[in-house]
This record gives sequence, C-alpha cells and structure tokens, in this order.
Amino acid sequence: MRPYILAETNWKEIQNQKFDVAILPWGATEAHNYHLPYGTDILEAEYIAAEAARKAWEAGAKVIVLPVIPFGVNTGQTDILLDINMSPSTQAAVLHDVLEVLNRQGIQKLLILNSHGGNDFKTMLRELGLKYPNMFLSSCNWFQALNKAEFFENAGDHADEMETSLILHLRPDLVLPLEEAGEGRDKKPKIRAYREGWAWAERKWSQISEDTGVGNPKKATKEKGERYFDAVTTKISLLFTELADAKIDDLYE
Ligand SMILES: [Zn+2]
Repeated sequence: MRPYILAETNWKEIQNQKFDVAILPWGATEAHNYHLPYGTDILEAEYIAAEAARKAWEAGAKVIVLPVIPFGVNTGQTDILLDINMSPSTQAAVLHDVLEVLNRQGIQKLLILNSHGGNDFKTMLRELGLKYPNMFLSSCNWFQALNKAEFFENAGDHADEMETSLILHLRPDLVLPLEEAGEGRDKKPKIRAYREGWAWAERKWSQISEDTGVGNPKKATKEKGERYFDAVTTKISLLFTELADAKIDDLYE
C-alpha cells in the first residue's frame, strides 16, 4: 500500500494525515495507432503521477494522488469507434465537485496532471479560482515537461515514438509488435495560418491520420521509455515538492 495513492490507502492511515497537495491525473480513452491500448493516456497519467509522488513523498512532500479521470475531450474523434468524449463543460463540473471537497477539508493546493492534448484546463481553473479564492489551482502537461528531441528520434504527438517507448517500458504486455503499427503519418492543414500554428482549429482526426497515430513509432524501445520515464518523473516530482512547500500567499519574488 502506497500512502500517497488515495485508491490504495485506507481510513486508518488517512484519518490522521495532513496533505498539502492533491494531484489529479487526467487521461483519455481513445485509439492510439494500431498497436497501443485505448488506455494509453490513462496508464501514462497513473504511472507518472505515482512515480513522481513516490519521489516527492520520499523527499518529505505531503502529496496525495487522486484516482485518474479516464475520459478526456475527444470532440474531434466522433467517428473513431469507442473514443469516449467528455465535454469541457462536464470536465468543469467534475473539477468543481472535487474542488469543493478539497476546499472544505483544507487541502488548498491542486495540481491536475494532464495526459491528453485535447484536455485544456486553463480557462476552467481561471473561472473556478474565482469561486475558491483560498485555493491554489494549477495544471501541467507532463508531455511538455522535457525536450522530447533529447530522448527520441522521431517527433509526433499521438501514439508516437515517445508514447510507444513509455508503454513498452510500463506495460509491454499491452503493446502489439511494432510491425503491426501504422507509420503515424499526419496530413497538415492547407491554410497557412493553421499550419504555422498561430491560428487554431480542431483537427478532424480521421481526416488527418489513417491509423489514428501522429508521429512514427517504429524506433520506439523500452530502454528509451525507461530513460524518459525516469527523467520526466524526477522533474515532475520537483514540481510536487515545490508546490507542497509553497505558501500560497507568497508565490512571487
Ligand atoms: Zn496519448
């Protein structure tokens, strides 16, 4: 039983504990090329949150990892079988309920550990921050914490070399042989501004990728996954410890 994982710990252990930070891992349920499981983002969120929390806990930080929310915003994948969408307004309602508990019980700091590119909590946290002025609300995208180019040869952002390497490290039993993976080739927007990235529109996923992947996974290995996992969880554990130590009325210098 890991005392920093809420789903594993128990009332005997919890009732006299005092926690400074709640970590809410947030995933998605969606196709990841042909070779990775639908729960890829969930597994990444769970394993990264748990390992970063272990490192932070051992450094003395009182963090508690809440159960992962399994559904993300998948409004662009409506025609991909069993990609499950949770609308942003539903996510905001879920967040509101979780925050109400934390606020009432004096756990004043929340960090959402986001695992899915379609999830965007910023505007929600701005609005909820008005309702809970005594709390410090934040989110991070673990997949942006490090420069991926230092770990992987091929870039990508969905079921790519990075995600494939990670799952090969964490759950090799759930990865099909890489010969069965598609190449994760994606089509780029014809309109220049979207291609340059300073204008945005949601991508209709089945129109940009045949195998649902974006980024070639073929050079993925479990060794790359292990190295990246260790580096990313170390970096995120520093965020957890700094957040645990921080005074929310004294955040700037
Ligand atoms: Zn993913």
